[in-house]
Amino acid sequence: MPLFEFECKDCGKPFEELLRSSSQVSEVNCPTCGSKQVRKKVSSFAARLSGGGSLSFGGSSAASCSTGST
Ligand SMILES: [Zn+2]
Repeated sequence: MPLFEFECKDCGKPFEELLRSSSQVSEVNCPTCGSKQVRKKVSSFAARLSGGGSLSFGGSSAASCSTGST
């Protein structure tokens, strides 16, 4: 079952939901305030696989992968 990430538009709280299909997205409520004004975020599965668990954008760990300068 895929894990989807959401963000509540009302309270701004991010949360995750396990959904059997993406059609259930419209039935998701915010677990914090109960609002239906939620936004599905882009899955971070790929980022987790390549990042080793730490999502730190803006760091300098990937600076060695620069392009163009040979
Ligand atoms: Zn909320």
